[in-house]
Amino acid sequence: MQSPSDHAEQLGPDSGPIELQDDLEGDTLREECGVFGIFGHPEAAAITALGLHALQHRGQEACGIVTFDGSRFHSERRLGLVGDTFSRREVIERLPGTVAVGHVRYSTTGATILRNVQPLFAELNAGGFAVGHNGNLTNGLSLRRELVRNGAMMQSTTDTEVILHLVAQSKRSHFVDRFIEALRAIEGAYSLVALTNKKLVGARDPLGIRPLVLGDLDGRPILTSETCALDMIGAKYVRDIEPGEIIVFDEEGAHTHKPFPPKPPRPCIFEYIYFSRPDSIVGGRSVYEVRKAFGAQLARESHPDIDVVVPVPDSGVPAAVGYSQYSGVPFELGIIRNHYVGRTFIQPTQSVRELGVRMKHSANRAAIEGKRIILIDDSLVRGTTSKKIVRMMRDAGAREVHFRLASPPILYPDYYGIDLPDRGGLLAATHTLEEMREIIGADSLAFLSIDGMYRAMGYPGGRDPANPKFADHCFTGAYPTHLTDHSETEPQPRQLSLLAEAS
Ligand code: SF4
Repeated sequence: MQSPSDHAEQLGPDSGPIELQDDLEGDTLREECGVFGIFGHPEAAAITALGLHALQHRGQEACGIVTFDGSRFHSERRLGLVGDTFSRREVIERLPGTVAVGHVRYSTTGATILRNVQPLFAELNAGGFAVGHNGNLTNGLSLRRELVRNGAMMQSTTDTEVILHLVAQSKRSHFVDRFIEALRAIEGAYSLVALTNKKLVGARDPLGIRPLVLGDLDGRPILTSETCALDMIGAKYVRDIEPGEIIVFDEEGAHTHKPFPPKPPRPCIFEYIYFSRPDSIVGGRSVYEVRKAFGAQLARESHPDIDVVVPVPDSGVPAAVGYSQYSGVPFELGIIRNHYVGRTFIQPTQSVRELGVRMKHSANRAAIEGKRIILIDDSLVRGTTSKKIVRMMRDAGAREVHFRLASPPILYPDYYGIDLPDRGGLLAATHTLEEMREIIGADSLAFLSIDGMYRAMGYPGGRDPANPKFADHCFTGAYPTHLTDHSETEPQPRQLSLLAEAS
């Protein structure tokens, strides 16, 4: 791969962003990436920067934009947040052109180093080619080994680079045919935006595991991970890119290709639980309304005697609203988040941290003191965060602390681009419900049931194992694609009776 212009790849800090280990954020799930692309707009880079800003929740480690100005490609890729890189006029001015693709990254494959920051760019014999990827290939390692054996020189450690090499090696004469040939070789989850000197291209894997939508800004097409990026720039939502669809924009208009045999779609249900922004519409559903429905269903399934409903901010808020509305128990902000602690805040020393400093969250004593509270969070991974929150609530005077999760227990690892630990690191895969309750220190603990989750999504019969509608394998182990790079014969986790309440 080469740098596309003289000022390409302005270096960010080599060692990555300064990590502020927040007291409540050591246990959150992280999405791998968000993508954005626009065709035919005179301010393509500035608009892409705004779009990426709206997608920041999908990846905070690095960001990048590649543009084409009619004769040259230009690239800026940095470690750090979008606002730190692309809010400066001189950076946007270094990205001329009417076509752009952009990417925000949280790494789940490949280290956090500048050469892994996307969009990746390569100079192929047919011209330049940039690609940004949300998802994870389940045969990326196997393909990589084969490519290296055949002489490919890899520049990054990401699975996405495999796609560049497959396109480069294709013998087809037209770019779209080469791209399709590359996609036929890969397995797993991918939503891609790609740029050549003539085209903007979007592609979604045949199961539609990760989202990708089409928007319109004054007649100019936009491809992006979530509708919140369209709202940010005043663009209209047109439609979701269909699973298995490849869409190409060039001077002649839009062309759609569907080269894969159709399969029942399996979009990732975690987009609704946690990843997508609550103001986004995913698969035609409002994420906010789905989260509220999860909370209402949780209240239907498990409702102890309590005085107030308290969300774990921010991701537990919509489910807590739903729980409160359904149960009639008042909603209170018992945990306050400090939004002004930046990543560059001086990291406290261990001795200061041991004093119990709460950098980003603190208990709102007035809302919880002497009360029986129910805490609502979106999901449980390792349980370390939940334990700290329960302790914080008790220290602030809560009389009873009940804990509810607005998703089922996570029992299996993810191989599609989410930062989930292996099974040994998943609390629910290694402990009974009562053991978990004890570890967390709550008076009672319960999860949303699998069938309840599907009911809240509008399927009154619950989950149909023969046609599950969504990718839900972190709860069920029903992986929807080959896992070529991973053992498919791992022992199953203990079968737990998790749907009953522990108290
Ligand atoms: S394992 Fe979970 S988070 Fe990952 S793609 Fe499947 S449903 Fe989504």
